[in-house]
Amino acid sequence: MTTIETVRGPVAIDVLKTVLMHEHVFVLDEEMRRNYPELWDEEQVVAEAVEKLKGLAALGVSTIVDPTVVGLGRDVARVARVNAQVDINIVVATGMYTLADVPLLFRFYGPDTLLGGEEPMVGMFVKDLTEGIADTGVRAAFLKCAIEESLTPGVERVMRAVAQAHLITGAPIVVHTSAAHRTGLIAQEVFRREGVDPGALVLDHSGDTDDLDYVRQMIDQGSYVGMDRFGLDLYLPGDQRVANVVRLVGEGLADRLMLSHDASCHIDWFPPGVREQVAPNWHFSHIHQEVLPALRGAGVGEKEITTMLVDNPRRFLSQGRP
Ligand SMILES: [Zn+2]
Repeated sequence: MTTIETVRGPVAIDVLKTVLMHEHVFVLDEEMRRNYPELWDEEQVVAEAVEKLKGLAALGVSTIVDPTVVGLGRDVARVARVNAQVDINIVVATGMYTLADVPLLFRFYGPDTLLGGEEPMVGMFVKDLTEGIADTGVRAAFLKCAIEESLTPGVERVMRAVAQAHLITGAPIVVHTSAAHRTGLIAQEVFRREGVDPGALVLDHSGDTDDLDYVRQMIDQGSYVGMDRFGLDLYLPGDQRVANVVRLVGEGLADRLMLSHDASCHIDWFPPGVREQVAPNWHFSHIHQEVLPALRGAGVGEKEITTMLVDNPRRFLSQGRP
């Protein structure tokens, strides 16, 4: 049987069951944390993460897919410490999160740089997928990159490195996109040019818009789309998010939709307490407690809910697996 790499090691794909396709354990600036340790209480954040993930598991979620890569403070050893205390599968990523430039580390060497040469990111990503991340022994199960407003040279360079690592390993690709700037279509085009099958892509944050023609266009070309910011009503109110999923399911497109929150156990992008105030629904329980009842109430069947929460993640993550 096909196996999938998780923080606790490879598991049979049947074990994944109900999956939230885009949730973070920790999002933080590691350099700030090291230099301003007063911003961080390691024991407290780990304990809080354990409690939050226990709550999620109690709702029947057996797996989260965590697209935290370099640029978002990835530390798989810390995630493993959490996972040792809570029974949930955590699937982790390799790749690079930048909305503009490559990290300065890559500024002077690699393609189209002063010193030129091969792209060093490709080997790093492949190592994370095939040997393990740092010294943890935990293997990444997918690749991740980002595009926000436009295809900057740095964004394109990372995208091409991710495409090359995909062509070597077969690992599927999650792309942070901006629905407001319709950049999912740009990502799709860059990956197509690099020889990547659009079915290997989830174009994330596509649920942030009412422009369903944009969403359908990405689906028509064969990609999955992430309806994955439930609870983040600042971008699009929850009832509109629900209505859009209902509409797309009604058009027979459930097999391309991924449901998630893009929430985190801990994120340092907001001052303490502010996230809870400005986005009170943005937490791990929102889909099971509010969104699924709303979808059912609007006529979405159990079969389609299973398609979105079980079958699609399973089909997506099994790509490139023996
Ligand atoms: Zn995210």
